Formats: sequence, C-alpha cells, structure tokens
Amino acid sequence: MNENKPSSSDEAWTSHRLQMVENQIVRRQVKDPAVIEAMRKVPRHLFVPPEYQDSSYHDGPLPIGYEQTISQPYVVASMTEELKLQPENRVLEIGTGCGYQTAVLAEITCEVFTIEIIPQLAQKAQKLLGKLGYKNIHFRHGDGSTGWPEKAPFDAIIVTAAAPVIPPAFIQQLKYGGRMVIPVERGMFGSQDLILIIKDYDRVKETSLYPVRFVPLITRDED
Ligand code: SAH
Repeated sequence: MNENKPSSSDEAWTSHRLQMVENQIVRRQVKDPAVIEAMRKVPRHLFVPPEYQDSSYHDGPLPIGYEQTISQPYVVASMTEELKLQPENRVLEIGTGCGYQTAVLAEITCEVFTIEIIPQLAQKAQKLLGKLGYKNIHFRHGDGSTGWPEKAPFDAIIVTAAAPVIPPAFIQQLKYGGRMVIPVERGMFGSQDLILIIKDYDRVKETSLYPVRFVPLITRDED
C-alpha cells in the first residue's frame, strides 16, 4: 500500500481513527486538546505490522516484532497528557518501538529525542517518521537507560518500557518543573504501576497513576 496516495481506504482509516479517539480517548476523560488532536491525526495503522493493520484502531496493544508491542491508544494518550506538554517543549522518549508514540509527541512539541535499543525497530521507525514528514525528531540507537546527557535537560521524559527502579539519570536530565511518566515494576507477579514524577527545586514528587503492563526496559552493559 502506498500511504502517500489518497484513496477511499484512507477515508476508511480516518473514520476508524476518529471513532477510536471518541470511544477510547475522549469518553475516558482525556481532555488536553493538543493530545486529542494529535491522536486524530497520526495514522496508527501505518505503524503496525501489515498482519495486524485491521486491528490497529482496536482498544489494546499489538505486537510489533522482536517481542515488543505498540501500546494501547488510551495509554499513549493518557501518558502524553500527564506530561502537560507545551509547543516549545523538548521531550525525551525511551523506547521508540514502532514510532507511534514518537509521532504523537512530535505533533505537540517542537523537539523530540528518541532512543531505541533494537536496531531493526530503530531503523524502521526512523524511515516511517521521515516518510510522514516529521522534521523535529532526533533518533538514537542504543541503550536509553542512561538517557541522552548531551541533549539534557528536558521539559518532559516518557519511558515506554518498565524498569525495576527509576534510573537516576532520567531524574537528573529532567528540568526543574519537568514531568516524567515511567512504568515501574512493583512487588511480585510482574505487576507494574505507571508513575508520574514531578521534579521541583526542593524535592522529587512521585505519584502512582494506574496499573500497566509494559515490556521490560533492556539494559546492555556494552552499549
Ligand atoms: N512507544 C513504543 C513502545 C514500544 S515497546 C511504541 O509505541 O511502539 C518498548 C520499546 O522500548 C521497545 O521497542 C524496546 O526495544 C525499547 N527498549 C527497551 N529497553 C530499552 C533501552 N534500554 N533503551 C532504549 N529502548 C529500549
């Protein structure tokens, strides 16, 4: 399929997408107009493997290969909303994956810095996001668990893989007043909570938002 060529099926995808935003995002109380607009715009069906395209606007995560997943649309919207992004913000994303969340961030803010550890996913996402015309995304292939110190500090950080503890580098690279969302492994049975971090001058405030299920953050000493 040539995604640059308008066709009647583009209209069908758009209609699925707008329905998805109404039923899964707006109905569940996501309110930030910039997030809603971005979710209406980014063509999620182009980010999933062809065999899952028909399910791309369903209310759930999907496999993207290499044992990784694209998150459920609601989780993408809700995590993005928690960052309270402004157009002039610079955002760090750990775990580019298929690049869908990256595109949503790039619709809202002026600069997105994204790191992916699996080379095939990194290349594929970079190619697709380039083809879709995004010029405000900076890509890095490697271990993102130490952040991107050369480009810090960031207004916001979003981590899309779960860690047993919050890597200290992420907090260091967050601006004062900055916000971070990260899935953190809690206790037994692989349960995870989405944690919101707000870095103030005098303290780092941590709030548990809701239970989530993300793939683990991979750490590779050699990277
Ligand atoms: N936001 C992505 C989610 C992908 S799943 C999407 O919507 O597609 C999490 C991603 O984090 C995977 O692609 C995985 O390879 C990547 N990842 C895991 N550990 C990482 C690390 N240490 N550094 C960078 N990326 C990592």
